[in-house]
Amino acid sequence: MLEAIELVGSTQQELQAFVESIGETAYRGRQLFNALQHRRLRSFEEMTELPKDLRNRLNSIALASTLTVESRYISEDGTRRYLMKTHDKLPVETVFIPEERRDTICFSSQSGCPLQCTFCLTAQLGLLRSLTPGEIVEQILIALNDAYGVGVKPPRGTNLVGMGAGEPFLNLDSLMKALRIMADPQGLHIVPNRVTVSTAGVVPRIREFAEISDRPHLAISLAAPTDELRDELMPINKKWPLNELLDACKEFEQTLRPGERFTFEYVMLAGVNDSENHARQLANLLNRHALRAKVNLIPHNPAEPLPYKSSSEEVVENFKATLESKGISTYVRRPRGRDIFAACGQLAAMPAESVSSAVEVNAVPR
Ligand code: SF4
Repeated sequence: MLEAIELVGSTQQELQAFVESIGETAYRGRQLFNALQHRRLRSFEEMTELPKDLRNRLNSIALASTLTVESRYISEDGTRRYLMKTHDKLPVETVFIPEERRDTICFSSQSGCPLQCTFCLTAQLGLLRSLTPGEIVEQILIALNDAYGVGVKPPRGTNLVGMGAGEPFLNLDSLMKALRIMADPQGLHIVPNRVTVSTAGVVPRIREFAEISDRPHLAISLAAPTDELRDELMPINKKWPLNELLDACKEFEQTLRPGERFTFEYVMLAGVNDSENHARQLANLLNRHALRAKVNLIPHNPAEPLPYKSSSEEVVENFKATLESKGISTYVRRPRGRDIFAACGQLAAMPAESVSSAVEVNAVPR
């Protein structure tokens, strides 16, 4: 347990209340929020607009940051993967993906993951623990500082995806708090419309999520069109089988607001779930539930010791054509950062020695 208070996981209102509780004015709380979230400063020493005495007092009772960066790996395609450590030495992984018109940061909601999806390397860690709101926010601060410099405004928009390690819906309260902190216009100002979270299908939480007014976009990881296959690939299906999951999805779809995105993710595993018959079964399943959501096909990212291979481009295109012929809008997601184990399903605290020698490996400061 941390004894000092972790301030980076506090809202602006909470910081004002906190500084008032130690005899300061609310104005100092607003300054503190600005320093942490807008200028992305990671220590009180750097906050020179605060009186020295206050900085000293903060140092003795609170923390401005808790994550440390152990390693950074840079892919040939510019993707950066960060392996960080929590104060209690647990791994946290974050991926920064630069694109022409925007950057995407894929963050983790848990250290490890309790779900046992067989195509995912993270599953092999098991659940180490859920991350705090501060630990979620810090991943984004660290990635932006590293890409652009401390406090420098990103030149393009920043999108966030909660598709790193962990099941976000098993840490929903912390996730929503982190997203609210990051949406604050006085801080990072990353609004819910720029955020997508992905769930393996925690059905009661899909219903809970539907009630949240400032929710981000939602993606559901399907991976199989039948219970038999999904039980095998995503054991969470034994608890909430496809019919139950898709009923909840239908209810959720009815709450969608204009411009809100709702998608299904389908990882393509060669010879396992990628045949034309699977595509037909998937289309029938979605059509039977009258779901209009789009499907994203994600070529699997092979990673030892997982037993799967990636479907060929031709198979992925045929799968897409079959879905489209049955009225399902389908996209193929281009894998990024495969060479540094930064792609989907590859996050498992992979140490430097396991990463290809063609890749630049740097230790970076906190
Ligand atoms: S795919 Fe997602 S939910 Fe499944 S084990 Fe991996 S991190 Fe967990």
